[in-house]
Amino acid sequence: MQTQTLQQQSSSKKIFSNPVIVELLEKYRPIAAMNHSAALLGWDMEINMPEEGARARGLTRAELALMTQTKTLALEGLLKKADKQKDLTDQEKGVVRVTKRALNYFQKVPPELVEELEKAYAAANMPWRQAREKSDFILYKPYLERIVELKRQEAAKLEPSGHLYNALLDLSDEGITTNDLDRIFSTLIPGLKIILAKATNDHLLTADHPLETVKYDVDAMKRVNNKLLQLLEMPEKRSRLDVSTHPFTSRIAGDDVRITVRYEGADFKASMFSLIHECGHALYELQVDSELDFTPLGVGVSYGVHESQSRFWENIVGRSMDFVRLVYPMLRENLAFLSAYDERQVYAYFNTVKTSLIRVDADELTYNFHIAMRYELEKKLLDGSISVPDLPSTWNNMIETYLGRRPNSDAEGVLQDIHWSWGAFGIFPSYSLGNVIAGMLWTKLRKDGSQRLDGKESVRKYLKWLRENLHHWGATYTPDQLLHRIFGKGYDPEGLVQYLEQKYLAMN
Ligand code: MG
Repeated sequence: MQTQTLQQQSSSKKIFSNPVIVELLEKYRPIAAMNHSAALLGWDMEINMPEEGARARGLTRAELALMTQTKTLALEGLLKKADKQKDLTDQEKGVVRVTKRALNYFQKVPPELVEELEKAYAAANMPWRQAREKSDFILYKPYLERIVELKRQEAAKLEPSGHLYNALLDLSDEGITTNDLDRIFSTLIPGLKIILAKATNDHLLTADHPLETVKYDVDAMKRVNNKLLQLLEMPEKRSRLDVSTHPFTSRIAGDDVRITVRYEGADFKASMFSLIHECGHALYELQVDSELDFTPLGVGVSYGVHESQSRFWENIVGRSMDFVRLVYPMLRENLAFLSAYDERQVYAYFNTVKTSLIRVDADELTYNFHIAMRYELEKKLLDGSISVPDLPSTWNNMIETYLGRRPNSDAEGVLQDIHWSWGAFGIFPSYSLGNVIAGMLWTKLRKDGSQRLDGKESVRKYLKWLRENLHHWGATYTPDQLLHRIFGKGYDPEGLVQYLEQKYLAMN
């Protein structure tokens, strides 16, 4: 079916016509099918699978990963041929680039090391949970030491230029280096500190809001979330919504993108903004050009660009006064307790700011401090300038310089995130890159005069703009190329700083 679709393109714009690329795409189809299966198995594991199913699921996913590796390594000869082709379309060049990246990883990182890494993650999972519960880093320390050691080996095998950490950063955000991140954070962090200090001094911030403790009826909240899905034009027949403890988005296929949400029973904005966040991720996948389905380009290009979409909708759109005005009548209709609060109060509730020690509870003004710190720690762990036993005290000292508060326990400090226990080094910076790109979008859309959200039509306008300028391309361009196409420049934190300045210094 897919080949047919690709060939049928000859009638209009033919994005894949080079015979070597067409052959490469045919050979890629089993890999796409395995990715599809792995995604579905992963989604099911979180949503439906009985506990005891974990063992068989783990083995099956490992086998699928191995088959993907074999199939990818088999593309080497064709890729060499593809590399010599001239006059390729941008999408054809993209296919070569993305496939080469996958091949490069499998060629350089031996399967034994991948297996060791998997074993180390599996071994660390329970100790991390227990250590966090007891707030005792010692229980987790040897497992994390093993993981850091293996991640350093993995990074070294990938032979990055410059800092060893660059190899891991490149896996989540193609092309990004410690030089880029040093530059970004050196503008972003001082800018945020100034805004936070000024807004605090001038008493512009709302730290706590009575709505944070108000309980809601889960059925009523489900109605709210369904209305939000409609407002954001989530296509009913190509997506679905489920409930899970940690909300996530899973792309099964271009026409099958699934999100989850949670209902804690109080503080309704938590459920609402997690829904909008995941919609942002899902809409990106849903608006990738369908011609790119079953090719290596049919997905979001990087973690950072992905996160920019979720954060654009969640923070820049969802927490704006315009959005409050747009959804207030619907919220009030479904959540009776809101009759005691007007639009300004709901806006204040959506935008409370407090210096939380916990990253996932952080607001948009202080969130990037948490990331800047994790970035510094990961960089130092990778180059060996700090070691795992130093982590708890280094963590506490650093967070104190950012937030002026010190954790009382390791549970409030170094043990709070699951990421390192599953080997996710180099992913935290993506969250800040996402915020940075969202800030660039804010600037761009203001310039284009479409910043006002004065009705459902404006949401549609944003979606169309994002589809045409960003979503549509999937992974055709590198993140840097994509940013240059849209903004005429690479990652620039200035827009985010200006956005936060205008928003929080105008509070009250
Ligand atoms: Mg996200």
